[in-house]
Amino acid sequence: MSLDKPNPAHLAAVEQALPRRAWRDPFVEFRKGTFNHAAHARSLEYLGLPNPRQWQPTDADWKLPAGWQQIILDGMKERLDRYRSFRLFMDICVRCGACADKCHFYLGSGDPKNTPVLRAELIRSVYRRYFTVAGRLLGPLAGARDLTEDVVKEWFYYFYQCTECRRCSVFCPYGIDTAEITMIGRELLNLVGCNINWVIEPAANCDRVGNHLGIQPHGFKDSLDFAVDELEELTGIRVDAPINRKGAEVLLVVPSADYFGSPHYFTLLGYLMVLHEAGVDYTFSAYASEGGNFGLFSSHEMVKRLNAKLYAEAKRLGVKWILGGECGHMWRVVHQYMDTMNGPADFLEVPVSPATGTRFEHAASTRMLHICEFTADLIEHGKLSLDPSRNDHWNATFHDSCNPARAMGLYEEPRFILRHVLNAFHEMPENTIREQTFCCGSGAGLGTDENFEMRMRGGLPRASAVKYVRDRFGTNLLACICAVDKATLPPLLEYWVPGVEVAGVHELVGNALVMKGERTRTTDLRGDPLAHVEGADRA
Ligand code: SF4
Ligand code: SF4
Repeated sequence: MSLDKPNPAHLAAVEQALPRRAWRDPFVEFRKGTFNHAAHARSLEYLGLPNPRQWQPTDADWKLPAGWQQIILDGMKERLDRYRSFRLFMDICVRCGACADKCHFYLGSGDPKNTPVLRAELIRSVYRRYFTVAGRLLGPLAGARDLTEDVVKEWFYYFYQCTECRRCSVFCPYGIDTAEITMIGRELLNLVGCNINWVIEPAANCDRVGNHLGIQPHGFKDSLDFAVDELEELTGIRVDAPINRKGAEVLLVVPSADYFGSPHYFTLLGYLMVLHEAGVDYTFSAYASEGGNFGLFSSHEMVKRLNAKLYAEAKRLGVKWILGGECGHMWRVVHQYMDTMNGPADFLEVPVSPATGTRFEHAASTRMLHICEFTADLIEHGKLSLDPSRNDHWNATFHDSCNPARAMGLYEEPRFILRHVLNAFHEMPENTIREQTFCCGSGAGLGTDENFEMRMRGGLPRASAVKYVRDRFGTNLLACICAVDKATLPPLLEYWVPGVEVAGVHELVGNALVMKGERTRTTDLRGDPLAHVEGADRA
């Protein structure tokens, strides 16, 4: 661990004390390790976003544009008129505090402004001051406060300490979704050019090249070719991974980290194996080479813009439906926003599995199916030959990634798959899984090195639940179905729960899958030896 990084024992001693200052005092200290760097001007310029300039949150002068206060208030008015939910969330909170201890950032930092109720109050107080009679007349007595530069800085600090995970909304008796408030807060900050680089640069890359990492089409093809060669070496079978093939039945869209990242890449190998075994006629697209949508962490307009390319590509290639990989926010966008933003996708067909004939009616409007739904259906119909003992070196648990869990209710399919490809599986405690799952602490664009301390703090509740199963059952693997999780959980677990690794569900499927005509396997997809060498017991 680098000397720069705080000691786990130090971070674990969370002080949950009453604040020393009144909550209305917008004081923020941009301390190293607790905030993200500002977006580069070049990315703002590329996307046509306001106020591109060189600046950092630690600067005294944020170089806000002339008339910044009116720009934000006009933006707020426009959104109060456009989104009934936003106005409702501003008006109906009774400050009961039921959400307060449900946020992982509050649990890990003890900072009262990281309680969902107070996070929302940062913007609600400004709403009261400028948009309610009581706030205009009574000011602070009505919980109102002026919009000052310090308030903008406070918004930036705390709206980029919310991963938009929506855990708090599960516990609010009124259904207030603080993630939606954070999204509006970030939109308002965007209007005056206050955004973070790890959101804006991936969005610009995706808009320009087709994926967040900025991988050019030839690099994308190289990576798929490499995966095909590697699978042939491992199994003796050469699978197909076509790109931009017009007339294919299915467009496969996965998060771009799957092409290169570790452990993401092993998930990609698993997809290729399953699609080969199921005989799916599919294609990748070099332009829609990203399932993720960093627009979700920036603005509704950006969500729509980046989501549109998936459907434009589906139309151009003439496919019948779309199959999506293991991604988090891609599914939140598809399930909750796509239909009204770019849908309905009635030029596509309702997904039907070519292997089982199952018609997935629930995808009738988006025409897009999750790979876990597809694979679970194959297993249910006995279409995959599986040997779970090939995963006997793993003793696993499952992390419900926030978006597939809370945004689309995908609880059972991954567990159904895991029960068929693993012999050792244990759940984490009830109040940390399924709908109540704890966030990795690094979603919504917060997974940066410079934000390390806050990520470790935000991830503490998730890591504590992993520690519970590690210490009780000997768990050594955390399976998940989100690319951000696969990037951010390994350092989190190394920090808090050493000895537990991270894998995608389809990596474990790929290990267990006995492909027709394959050669005897001695290693898993990572190249690690299997718990037993095959052949003798199968002959
Ligand atoms: S639980 Fe809902 S009503 Fe209660 S404080 Fe939180 S957001 Fe407000
Ligand atoms: S959405 Fe998640 S991160 Fe944001 S306030 Fe709610 S629980 Fe905290």
